[in-house]
Amino acid sequence: MEIKKIKKTKGKIKGLVIKGILNYIKTAESEKNVEKFQKALKKEGLKDVFDKKIKSFEWYPLWWYAILIFKTQEILGWTEDDVFQMGYQAAKRSLMAKIFLKYFIDIKKAAQGGKQHWKQIISTGELKIKKTDLKNKKIVFKLENFNIHPLVCADIKGYMKSMGEFIVGKKNVNIKETKCVFQGDPYHEFEVVWK
Ligand SMILES: [Zn+2]
Repeated sequence: MEIKKIKKTKGKIKGLVIKGILNYIKTAESEKNVEKFQKALKKEGLKDVFDKKIKSFEWYPLWWYAILIFKTQEILGWTEDDVFQMGYQAAKRSLMAKIFLKYFIDIKKAAQGGKQHWKQIISTGELKIKKTDLKNKKIVFKLENFNIHPLVCADIKGYMKSMGEFIVGKKNVNIKETKCVFQGDPYHEFEVVWK
């Protein structure tokens, strides 16, 4: 069963990601749905996560994150696009991402900063830069050893789009997942293009 597999996800994630998801769900859904969602989480052993004081800079089990994302589809009927939107909004609100990336003076360095940023918030998986093509305004990222669920890819994609907009300082940033382990590729690949 899918949920069993998700629960075996190893690794840790910073509380700010968990908090970001919970807050987003609260704003995007009705009270009734939030309650339904909470109940479903409890059933999976994620007790009172909404009430718990999740601390932004503490580490939490990565499977919590995986379950949260997975349940948005199962319980709330979210699509990949909805999850993408959540990732996009989460990065927009993340002060940490902004403060961190502010210090990079050029796009190339900022992209490398994105690599470090990943390590700050997730203990597993490696985000690498596969190609930097500033002339054609394109950066290709490679994400290895991170195989949770296709919905998680959508969340990351949204997050990266927002980060890309912030780094480039423009709104018209496009992101595509050009390779994915769930499509039989050896890793995930994200192509960021801007105008
Ligand atoms: Zn993927």
